[in-house]
Amino acid sequence: MYNFTIGLSMLISLLLIIVNALVSYVIGIIGKNTYEKTGAIEIAINKLNVLNQYIYNIFSISSVFLTGMIMLPHMRVFLKPLGSWGKAIFFLSLVILIFVNSILNQLILHPTKQMIRGTNETKKELLYNHLRFLVFFYFPIIIIPLIKMILPSELKSRLFSDKILNIISSMSIIFIVLLVTPLFVGIVLKAVPMNSNELNQKLANILKKANIQNCKIYIWSTKNRKIANALVTGYIQKRIYVSDYLLENFTEDEVQSIIAHEIGHIKKNHLMIRLGFILLGNVLFRIVGLLLDYYNHIIPFWVGICIISALFILYFYILFLAISRSQERQADSFVLQIGIDPEVFISALYKLTKLNHSLFRFNRFQEILRTHPSTEQRIEWVRKKAKISNRKIELVQERGEHDIPLI
Ligand SMILES: [Zn+2]
Repeated sequence: MYNFTIGLSMLISLLLIIVNALVSYVIGIIGKNTYEKTGAIEIAINKLNVLNQYIYNIFSISSVFLTGMIMLPHMRVFLKPLGSWGKAIFFLSLVILIFVNSILNQLILHPTKQMIRGTNETKKELLYNHLRFLVFFYFPIIIIPLIKMILPSELKSRLFSDKILNIISSMSIIFIVLLVTPLFVGIVLKAVPMNSNELNQKLANILKKANIQNCKIYIWSTKNRKIANALVTGYIQKRIYVSDYLLENFTEDEVQSIIAHEIGHIKKNHLMIRLGFILLGNVLFRIVGLLLDYYNHIIPFWVGICIISALFILYFYILFLAISRSQERQADSFVLQIGIDPEVFISALYKLTKLNHSLFRFNRFQEILRTHPSTEQRIEWVRKKAKISNRKIELVQERGEHDIPLI
């Protein structure tokens, strides 16, 4: 009887993986149909991304949660003799399940994305790229519970026994993890330092002009994935990463404007502000947790869960995204401040949208859920700030042959 229930729960878990794969498959079909119907790459890719981000991710996380609930009573018997390591093994097996689902999702959508965007990344490359990303993304999330599970009980009781001590210890670990994580971005992207030839005088000048000394520029390869992007990391040693697909398609002046935007993030301490925001959020949520615990005779458990979930979404999602968009605006403003020709920057923004097959504009609701304002908003904002006429913007579009569908 016992073996039967274990077998049954394993079967249900396997079924959930298959259902996850089926959801990905259906999303792929919807994306393909959208492309065939509209003929617009941007609309089809946006649909795929939105469905994947919301429908698939929510489904996938709930199904892993469900698998955990089903498996736990059976696994407990095997894992109990292992003590705290047993807990850690169970926890890690659920993380592996998230990885399996996510990799399957990417592999299933791969042919559709390739067909729509004309990319030529092989499945093996996709697998390694995505695996590196998953490890990098989930590491800061899983490290705290994992440390709490495997620490020797004596040390654990010293570090986490008291409620205040628990908050201080957890915060310290989160702080160290967040401080160290950016060091691995280069490995995740397989980036290489820009050599002195590529780091042409213009890029060196812009760093000098901004008075930035401790910043290195790296290139990462995205030609076969067609990703035109740049990003900045690091709290002490700053690093700017630019994709080779961007370098290949942008003029030197346009690349300079993109680097100026990234420098804007450094100059305005955006990374530190984000770090502070995450740490503050952790403290606030621990305090809310303690309060709910204290008032548990008045507030029912399920109401507490609803309050925490709503606050979590508001703080770490809606507010975080609003701060991110405002930081993007400040970085755009820095581009103008440092003396980049606004028309060159606008041309670069058009190109980014075109090369990545992103949508040019979004509705109000979609804007709230984005890390960056839409290209339409960014260009309009730069246009107003630099006092450029609408006609000039049209000329920039024509001159750069930015035949992007303005949808
Ligand atoms: Zn930015």
